[in-house]
Amino acid sequence: MNFRKAIALFLWAGVAAAAFSGMRTAAQKNAPTKAAPVKAVKFGKLWDGKGKVWTNAIVIVEGERVREVTTDEKRIPAGAQVFDLSRYFGFPGLIDVHTHMTIYTDETPDTPMLKQITSNSAAVQVFLARKGALRVLEAGVTTVRDLGADQYEDIAMRDLINRGEMVGPRMFVCGYGLYITNTPYKPGINPPAGGIADGVPEVLRVVRQQIAAGADVIKMYASTGTDDDTTGFETYGYDEIKAAVDAAHQFGKKIAIHSYGPDGARDAVRAGTDSLEHATDMDDATIAEMAKRGTFYVPTIDHNRYYLDNWQKIGYADGFQAKTRAFIERNLETARKAHKAGVKFAMGSDAIYSGFGENTRELGWFVKAGMTPEEALKTATTNAAELLGKKGELGAVAAGYFADLVAVEGDPLADVNVTISKVKWVMKGGRVVADKRELR
Ligand SMILES: [Zn+2]
Repeated sequence: MNFRKAIALFLWAGVAAAAFSGMRTAAQKNAPTKAAPVKAVKFGKLWDGKGKVWTNAIVIVEGERVREVTTDEKRIPAGAQVFDLSRYFGFPGLIDVHTHMTIYTDETPDTPMLKQITSNSAAVQVFLARKGALRVLEAGVTTVRDLGADQYEDIAMRDLINRGEMVGPRMFVCGYGLYITNTPYKPGINPPAGGIADGVPEVLRVVRQQIAAGADVIKMYASTGTDDDTTGFETYGYDEIKAAVDAAHQFGKKIAIHSYGPDGARDAVRAGTDSLEHATDMDDATIAEMAKRGTFYVPTIDHNRYYLDNWQKIGYADGFQAKTRAFIERNLETARKAHKAGVKFAMGSDAIYSGFGENTRELGWFVKAGMTPEEALKTATTNAAELLGKKGELGAVAAGYFADLVAVEGDPLADVNVTISKVKWVMKGGRVVADKRELR
C-alpha cells in the first residue's frame, strides 16, 4: 500500500467513525428527555452585526446556537428560561484576534512576571491561565485567536475549554510562532527551540509541524520587536515568508505575520499574509496593497500602553519608555493612515502577563485613529470573524450563529467606552459566563 492510499484509508476510517458517533448523538437529541435547553434573552436594544439595530429584541437560544431573533413575545417557547436584559444594549460576543492566553502571570509579590513565566512548568501555566480566561470573558470577549505559546500549552487550553473542563473563550491557536535563530552559540548538543526555522526547507518543516500538532492558524515573526524592544528589523527574507504563507494556505490555514517595522510588513503583504500584526511606519504602497488585497491590519496599539503602565512588575530594565512612547504615536499614526486608505482592521490586544480583561481597550485607540464606535465594534465582531474564516458562525447575532451575547449599560454606538468598561452580562455558546448586574 502506498503512502497516499494509507492516508486515504486512515481518513476514511476517521470519517466513518465520526458519522457513526454523529448518528448516535442525533438519536439522543431526538429523545424527549435530552432536548437542548431553550433560553430567551431580551435586550432593550440589539446591534446584531448584520446591519440592524433592534428595539426590544428577543434572542431565542437553543443549546449553543441562536435559533432566531425576534420582537414577538409569542415566539418564546413554553418553559424557556428567560433573561430579562431590557435595561441593556446587546451585541455579539467579541473576538480578540491577538492574545497569549497561556503566558498568564499574576502579581505575586517580588516575583517579576518575566521570571514567573520561565520558572513555571507547562502544566502549571495552563492551570493558572484559567484566571486570565475568566477575565477575558468578563470583558465580553468570547473568542480569541491566540498567537504564540510554549510547549503547545495553547492546544491543551483550547481543548480543555472545548471539552467543558475549563471556562474560557473559544480559542483558535497557533502552537509555536516561527522565529529565526535568536540564541547565542553554545558548545555541545543544543536542540533548537520549538518554532526556530532558518531557510525555506526549515520554514516548511516548522509550519507543517504546527499543523500536525493541531494548530488552527500559523504565526510568523518577520521582524524584531517585542516587550520593551521596539526595533523593527526584518528577520526573514521574502522567499521564507512566501514559503510560510503558501505552506499554511496549502492546508487551508490562515497566517498571521508579526512585523514591528515597515520592511517585514511590505514583504508579508506582498507574500499574501492574511493578517499583519503591529506594523508601524508602513509606507503608502504597502497600505494601498493591503486595501487592494483585503489584508487585515491588527495594530495592537494598546499593548505598549500596558507595558508602560506595568514595566516594573513585568521586570523590564528602566530606560526603554521614551522609545515605547514614540512607537505608540507612530503605531497610531500608521493606523490612522490605513483606516483612511480603506484597510480592514481586526481588534487584537496582544494580551499577555496580567493584561487579561483589558482586551477591548484597543477599541479606544481605533476611535482615536478615526473610526466611529460602530466601525470599532465591527473590528471585534464581523471583521474578526471573517479573519478567522468563521463568518457564518461568529461575530453576529442571527439564526445558526453561536449564542455569544454581551449586554452593556449605555449606548455602544454613541460611546466606545461603553463597550470597553460597561459590560454587565456575557453568554458564550448558550451558557452565561459573566453576570455583573447590580441586584435590583
Ligand atoms: Zn503577540
